[in-house]
Parts: sequence; structure tokens; C-alpha cells
Amino acid sequence: MNLLTPVSQLNRVGKTLEKRLRNLGIETIKDLLFHFPFRYEDYSQVVPIKDLREGTQVSVRGKVELIASKRSPRKRTIITEAVVADETGQLRVVWFGQPFIAKILKAGDTVYLSGKVTSDFFGAQMVGPAYELAKTPSSPPPIRGRDSNSPNTTHTARIVPMYSVASGITNKQLRFLLSQAMGAVGQIKEWLPEELRDRADVMGLVEAIKAIHFPESPDELKHSERRLKFDELFILQLRGELIRQAIKKSIAPKIEFKEKETKKFVDSLPFKLTKKQKIAAWEILRDLEKTEPMNRLLEGDVGSGKTVVAAMAMYNAALNGFQTALMCPTEILAFQHYETLLEVLCDKVSVGLFTRSQRMIKEIDRDREIKSKIKLQNKIKEGGVGIIVGTQTLLAENVEFKNLGLVIVDEQHRFGVEQRKVLREKLARDLTPAFGQTLSYKERVITTPHFLSMTATPIPRSFALTVFGDLDLSIIDEMPPGRKSVKTRLVEPRHREKAYQFIREQVKQGRQAFVVCPLIQNNENDKTQDTNKLQIINYKFQNDERKTVMAEYEKLKSKVFPDLEIGYLHGKMKSAEKNLTMEQFNNGVINILVSTSVIEVGVNVPNASVMMIEGAERFGLAQLHQFRGRVCRSTHQSYCFLFTDSVSPKVAERLKFFEQNTSGFKVAEYDLENRGPGEVYGTAQSGMENFRLATMKDGQLIKLARDLARGIDWQKYPMLKNKVEEWGDRVHLE
Ligand code: ADP
Ligand code: MG
Repeated sequence: MNLLTPVSQLNRVGKTLEKRLRNLGIETIKDLLFHFPFRYEDYSQVVPIKDLREGTQVSVRGKVELIASKRSPRKRTIITEAVVADETGQLRVVWFGQPFIAKILKAGDTVYLSGKVTSDFFGAQMVGPAYELAKTPSSPPPIRGRDSNSPNTTHTARIVPMYSVASGITNKQLRFLLSQAMGAVGQIKEWLPEELRDRADVMGLVEAIKAIHFPESPDELKHSERRLKFDELFILQLRGELIRQAIKKSIAPKIEFKEKETKKFVDSLPFKLTKKQKIAAWEILRDLEKTEPMNRLLEGDVGSGKTVVAAMAMYNAALNGFQTALMCPTEILAFQHYETLLEVLCDKVSVGLFTRSQRMIKEIDRDREIKSKIKLQNKIKEGGVGIIVGTQTLLAENVEFKNLGLVIVDEQHRFGVEQRKVLREKLARDLTPAFGQTLSYKERVITTPHFLSMTATPIPRSFALTVFGDLDLSIIDEMPPGRKSVKTRLVEPRHREKAYQFIREQVKQGRQAFVVCPLIQNNENDKTQDTNKLQIINYKFQNDERKTVMAEYEKLKSKVFPDLEIGYLHGKMKSAEKNLTMEQFNNGVINILVSTSVIEVGVNVPNASVMMIEGAERFGLAQLHQFRGRVCRSTHQSYCFLFTDSVSPKVAERLKFFEQNTSGFKVAEYDLENRGPGEVYGTAQSGMENFRLATMKDGQLIKLARDLARGIDWQKYPMLKNKVEEWGDRVHLE
């Protein structure tokens, strides 16, 4: 038997079991060994029968004195009863519905039993314990440190591994298979060089795999978990490091910090920068001065003022004669940024807007102009535009730049991992004409622009370090002074009318409201089930999204607010329609806007004061926080109402937490711990969904992995590179 031996060659693997194993992705011995338990039962205490205490979970070792099955008179099931004795006393044992036990265990056999102790008038008893003949030949081979008195068991009298049984494979089957597979465990190749193992202070891989299945002690289990978690985290960090080092090898234009002009610009703003804005700006501007391309993530809660920080960077690029592309995930947002930049920079830099439906330019000392696509493209190519705000259209149309020095991606989390990669590669290649000339494989010098991503998704630092190991990080975790926090309430269904009444009053006072509808998949049965499992955003279902929005719109328009102007927004509308609706909402023509999650991103309507969210349980807290951020953009007191039909206490707890916490970082952390990164940031985002053991709670280990990966010498450890590539392939396949 070796690691690649098919599991079908193991004892007692028939066609059915083989298929079930395959469903779990287990085809070889190696797959099996890397199928980890998800929890353990500690039955390692072997207790003399006379010392058994009710309610404890323990094991006993004794001789079967008597065993028999009979049909229960009332319950129509088979009862197997046994008496097991050791030197100190007798124990009664009962199993229900497992008649075969009386055939496996015989009077005279020495057995281990593990389970919970109960007792009645006649003394101690165990109901349905796990059982195992002492010294079964199929037990796992001795593991380091095991003493000769050790029971050598698989299912009892030890820390027992528990596997997920959703697959239809029982724990007993899996343990039995694993005890056989242990015969090949020694062939697993250690991939961590000894030096790194020492520095990380982790145990060897073979030992760790043995112990994750059959730990000899809680301590050993802890160490094996630590090693295996470290592996997962380290590979992810190495991947980030690989990207980071590759970027480092290319060069970027040097953008000098123009202190005088920057200061003047900052003084011209109607507000004072917050301390955190200053720090972030300083970090960015310092990066731009290097010829090593900046690769930085600017993270700041909604409304923390990232745009102005970005504007400082763009302005400096322009002062140095370089262009900036500001990429946005939606047209609405692109237009908004265009307007904002005109407000603060129009007398200093020419700004262009390039999206699918809108193309505009505002040159210094000139009026705004709408340009044809070709004309605007030419302008950009000649260098007549300093800042170009756009959407992915900018990439799709292969717009050429004269001298692109800086790329900023706003709301970067809205672009998937793949998209981001394409974005960066494409930007480096297509948008930088110098690329072709400076590219020299020998020196591996590639010209790339500086790269800044921005996100309002509050990503705790530890998580950002894990997932974006290749990025440097600036965090604005401070709000401009004077912001009122949004009053958030989880509204009980019976108070719905009151909430509507409240909205009516707000509208009377001249305010506006958002109503956000979740995406509900058509299956009505889902409603009562654990909603955590529901997909929250799935673009395939935009049809349903439209339905939900339109139904809500109809209801509000005809029944609840027939006297008010209601508008709607969903993903299926044409951009012109969307823009019109947004404009009407902006101008106050529309009082209440019913929308899908499209408003989540960046939309800025200062006059809106109420955010009402239907089916709130269907959104992650980080996303709810984004919605809430839509209404804290002015001096009006704002409100966020959450509605849910869910009766699950877990949902209530989550939403209560949200109600009481206004910090985006806090709510994101809560979701990360309770729901995992896939749920919070969308799957395929992080690479972390491939983790079997490591979680966000492993902060120290994450840091350790990161520190060890930084500046790693690939030549010294060629194994590491192979491992990262192999892992990358696997992720790709999954
Ligand atoms: P976000 O970080 O969500 O992108 P924005 O950059 O859109 O936030 O800023 C939100 C609002 O706050 C804008 O209207 C902006 O002009 C304003 N703002 C930014 N910085 C400050 C500051 N230091 N003091 C007061 N208002 C600010
Ligand atoms: Mg923004």
C-alpha cells in the first residue's frame, strides 16, 4: 500500500462505500489521510467500574459476562443487553436496534466500552456505548510516545475522532479505513524545510497527520492542529509573497511628492483631514515616490473619506505628468466620482469619464463636453486627460494611455479575485505603451503603474493579512468629526406599520428613504430553513431579483404610500434607466427608492435618512453595514430598520449584534467568526474556503506564517514553490 493506492483496495470497501468516498473527494489513501475529523470525543479516561459516576463520558475495560438480544415488548425494536465486569464491579449495558452486536461480542470477550454513564436503582449503566474488542488487530499502529499499557484502540478508550457523516459514511467506517491507511502515513513527504519548521516551532507532517486522526493526548492534538493550520496559512502567504516579489521586480514611474501644491489642495477643501486620512495619504504618497510599484489596499469604513485621499494621489500623479485611471464597479459610482473630482480638482487637472453609456471630459478652463468614444480615446492616448474615471469598459475597449502612472480600483471587493488579476495584468500590459519596449526577459524588468485598491468592506487586519498577503495596507478607522451614527433597529413584524408611519413623517420633513430587498431564490421552502446557507448574491438569479423588487414596489406604491413617489432599481435595468432613476432620487423627485443590493456600492444621497432592509437575515453583516452607510452622509439623524421573517435565535442574535454595533470592523469580525469568510466576502474571494482547519481566530499563527513568508528565498527552498503551484492548481480546479 502506498499513498496513491485506491481506497477500494482497503478492507471492507465495497462499491457503495467507494462511491460515497468519491463523493467526498477521497479516491486514494492520501486523500483519506488528508480527510480530517471535525471534532473529537474524549473517551481516553478508562475508569474502574466501581468509580463510574453518572453523567461522565468515560471508557471501561471489562469482560462480557452475559449478552443477549430480545424483542422489546412495547417498542418494536431489538434490545441487546449485556453485563460487563472488571475486578471492581459489574456494569449493565443496553443497545437499541443493533441486534448484530450480540453476534460480534461474545461472553468471555474482553471489551472496551465508551459512552455516557447513567444510573438507576440497580446501579451504573451505559446506553448505546461505542464498543470494541480489546486488542483488535485493526487498531492503528503504535504512535510515538504510546506506552505499552495503552489500549491500542480505534473507536473507544481514547480521544476518538468524529468525521462529518453527511456523506452516508459512518464514523466507525471512516475510523476503520483510517486505521488501515495509517500503514502508509510514513510515506507522506515533509514539505517544510527543517529550518522553517524549527522557526515556526511546529511538529513534523507525518506525526501531525497521525495525531490529527488518532491523538494520544489533548496536547498532541493541539500540536498537530497547529502544524496543519500552519501549513494552510503558510501556503496562502507564500502565494502572496510570490506575487509580491514578482511585482517588486517590475518598475513603476517615480511620482514625486509635490508638497506645496498638495498642501494648497488640502487647504482648499471645505474640511480638515482626519488624522487617519493624513496617515493613509502619507503612506500612499511615499509609495509613489519609489520606483517599486505600489501595491496597496486602502481600507476605510463607508464615509470615512477615502476619495479625497485618492484624489491627493491622483493630483500628485498629474503634477508629475502621469495619468491616473480610476476604476469603478458600477456606472453610477463612476459618474459620482467624476463629479466629486471635478468639484475639487477641475481647475488643476483635466478629468474624463469613460463608461459604456457615458463619455465626458472636462478640461482645465473649458466647459464640460460630451465626446464620442473615439475622440475621448484619442484624447486619452495623446495625454490630454489627466484622470480617467471609468468602469470595466475601459479595459474592454482597450483604451490606450499616454503615460499611465497610477491605477486606483474603488470598491475592489466588487471585482472577483480573477477579475482583479486580469485587471492588473491587463492594465500593466495594455494601458502602458512602454511595456513592450522595457520588457526584457533577462532583467525581467516590466513597467507597471502604481496600484491602489480601495474598499469600504471592513476587513479586520488579521484577515486582510491572510487574504491579501501581497498587499500593503492602509486603514482609515476614524470618521470625520460630527457624523451622527445611524440609529439601527430590528423591527418586529407587528411594528411594521409604525415603521411605515415613521418613513412617512421623514418624507414630510423633506427626507428620503431606501427600501432594500434581498434576493430570494424561488424555492419558498427555503424560507424556514437555516438561511445562513442561502446564497445571498448570485447574479444568475437576477430575474428573481427583479421580481422581488417589483413586488415590493407595487405593494408600496398601491397600498402603503399611494400618495408618495416611489422608484425602483434593479440589476436588469438599462443603464440609462438606472441613471435616470438615480438622478430623480438625487433631485428629490422620488421619495422612496426600492432597490436590490445595487445601491450597496458607493451611492451618495445625503438627503436620504431612512434605510429599510427586508429579509435582513439574508445579508451578511458587512453588507448590511454597507447599506446602513448609505444614510449617514449628512447632518440629518438617520435610521436603519431591519426586517426579518426568520424565527431562528441565531439570526436574532446576529441582527441584535448589528443593531448595537456601529463599527464596520466590529460587525465584520463578528461575521467572520460566526459565518466564515466565504459568507462574509463571497466565495472565491479569499482562498480561505480551502482551509480545513485554520480560521480567522488563528491570528498569531497567521502572523507567524506571514512573517516567515516575507522575503523567502525561493532558490534555497525549491520545494516551497512547487507546493504553492500545486496548491494553486488545486484551487483552480475546485
Ligand atoms: P468613502 O470612504 O466611503 O468613499 P467618501 O470619500 O465618499 O467616503 O466621503 C464621504 C463624505 O465625507 C464626502 O462627502 C466627503 O466630502 C466627506 N469627507 C471626507 N473627508 C472628510 C473630513 N475629513 N471631514 C469632513 N468630511 C469629510
Ligand atoms: Mg467611496
